[in-house]
Amino acid sequence: MAVTVQKEALSFPRQMFIDGQFVDALGGETLPVIYPASGEEICRVPLAREADVDRAVRAARRVTEDGRWGQMNPHQRERLLHRIADLIEAHAETLAILETLDTGKPIRDVKRIDIPLTVQCFRYYAGWPSKLKGDTIPVRGQFLTYTLREPVGVVAQIVPWNFPLYMAAIKVAPALAAGNAVVLKPSKETPLTALYLAKLMAEAGLPDGVFNVVTGDGKTTGTALVRHPEVDKIAFTGSTAVGQEIMREAAAHIKRVSLELGGKSPHIIFSDADLPQAIQGIVGGIFYNQGEVCLAGSRVFVQKPVYEEVLNGLAAAAKQLKIGDPFAEETTFGALISEDHRKKVDRYVQLGVEEGAALVTGGRIPPGLDRGYYYEPTILAGGHNRMTVAREEIFGPVALVIPFETTEEVIALANESQYGLAAGLWTRDVSTAHNVARALRAGTVWINAYNLLDAAAPFGGYKMSGFGRELGEEGLELYTELKTVWTSLR
Ligand code: NAD
Repeated sequence: MAVTVQKEALSFPRQMFIDGQFVDALGGETLPVIYPASGEEICRVPLAREADVDRAVRAARRVTEDGRWGQMNPHQRERLLHRIADLIEAHAETLAILETLDTGKPIRDVKRIDIPLTVQCFRYYAGWPSKLKGDTIPVRGQFLTYTLREPVGVVAQIVPWNFPLYMAAIKVAPALAAGNAVVLKPSKETPLTALYLAKLMAEAGLPDGVFNVVTGDGKTTGTALVRHPEVDKIAFTGSTAVGQEIMREAAAHIKRVSLELGGKSPHIIFSDADLPQAIQGIVGGIFYNQGEVCLAGSRVFVQKPVYEEVLNGLAAAAKQLKIGDPFAEETTFGALISEDHRKKVDRYVQLGVEEGAALVTGGRIPPGLDRGYYYEPTILAGGHNRMTVAREEIFGPVALVIPFETTEEVIALANESQYGLAAGLWTRDVSTAHNVARALRAGTVWINAYNLLDAAAPFGGYKMSGFGRELGEEGLELYTELKTVWTSLR
């Protein structure tokens, strides 16, 4: 595995970015960064404790109060955001290498999906600063009453390890467009692209303190950030359990909170679907990014007349995935994030079998790939919706395939979950497609497609998958306060 070659990409300041400076932690502590495809430590980054987080939050506070950012001419803010997008595009190769070293995902996916979506997100929000307007309100009496959209202030943004750069972009771009200052905390597993993004922000000429990155684990750094009294808003993407903790912490100061949490998304094939396309869609829906996707279509419901045909097709397509070196262009399926995570995924597969599902394919470490945290794409079948593997998020490459008979039955099964992030369905019948789309309790429904995101399309969860909508115009609402101004005209 060619890690030595890729290490050139690491020749940038791998320090935190606070108030426009690259800095170490005050206590000098560091954490290792591991390449999941080999288990090697590739570098170390600072571990931020309370005092470091305090420095970052205070820098962000200063720049929101002195008007250098919030009061900046909106056209100037737009130019800066466009410059950031241009720089990300210009540094795409390095960013792709860093993302692959951090996550172990195939570099071809990073180049084709993560980076272009990140650039699109910054470009989309670069258009907004000059369009963030309020309304005049026709109130009773002689008054001029209007609303202003103002930045929330200091925003803490905490992101997971599965799409480190893109998850950061979804949060950072709208927050900056709306005039907030940001303290970003990447996951301890994947800090590198956030730090590189800081380098690009500095190059773009963002005022000091507008964008800060603190690195460290959730317990130390994340908790300090969430508890800091000068943080006005927390935007979090991660597990439902941590989301619950953040809500509890935020209550102390009534901080604004938006949460993008876990999922257990249903993916439905009706018997009239274009089966070859649907099979490809289902395979991509669960095995893209090694299944480490909040949107993963992990509960696959197949209508009985086509059940056997679809199951065979899924098993054959899963076997066609090219598992191996994430830096090889032909690789379509990389390593899982860590040994702990691989063990967790494997435990779920064993549990699925114990609870009565059949192991159709996968369920083991791929032969010859025992270095690094690889695990085969896995299909369990013949189970039911109340099994543990149907209820709990595995966040790995494991699909559970369940047969169904009627439309009413599959709607009930799909909705029988504590989660409601996304859903997909395949049918040629227009009425079935739209009736089912309406009946599903999920923030996004794809018809004859899966896993699509766009900077202009809102995205977020129902139920325990979170609240608030990121992306699109709605994404800006998470980062603005609405002020109403009354003026007497008498
Ligand atoms: P996680 O909840 O363990 O960690 C997410 C982030 O929160 C990390 O940066 C972590 O350091 C930090 N954190 C952990 N504990 C914290 C605490 N007590 N206080 C403050 N911060 C804390 O999740 P993960 O394992 O990194 O990611 C996987 C989870 O993320 C899955 O559940 C997945 O569904 C979810 N996810 C959701 C979306 C979405 O958009 N809905 C997208 C990607 C991932």
